[in-house]
Amino acid sequence: MRLPSLLKEVWKNLFEKPATVKYPHEKLGVPESYRGKHLLARSRCTGCGLCGEVCPASAITMEQLGNGIFPVIDLSKCIFCYQCGDACPRGAIIRGREVELASWSKEDLILK
Ligand code: SF4
Ligand code: SF4
Repeated sequence: MRLPSLLKEVWKNLFEKPATVKYPHEKLGVPESYRGKHLLARSRCTGCGLCGEVCPASAITMEQLGNGIFPVIDLSKCIFCYQCGDACPRGAIIRGREVELASWSKEDLILK
């Protein structure tokens, strides 16, 4: 960019609203179809284990929880491809829109 056009750009931006927001005080939200933290509908799950079979990151293990075997997702390994949700024949893994997953504890990233 040459200097005159650069100055023009600077001048224009002095009077426009900022393109950024003051996160975390302001949030933009995410689109409807965003692949955030999963929602597990355990009541629909049959424990077939297909979600774990297709997971490319080996982030899903099947564990005994209560009276059945259900998927447990390690979000620290997950790449949020949602192949698990696409493969689930029962629609038991639903796209969530929660994106703020930073934590000091790995336990917080285990989704049951
Ligand atoms: S979103 Fe992808 S990486 Fe994450 S648990 Fe599902 S299949 Fe595995
Ligand atoms: S694929 Fe669906 S029904 Fe099968 S274990 Fe995973 S969540 Fe449950």
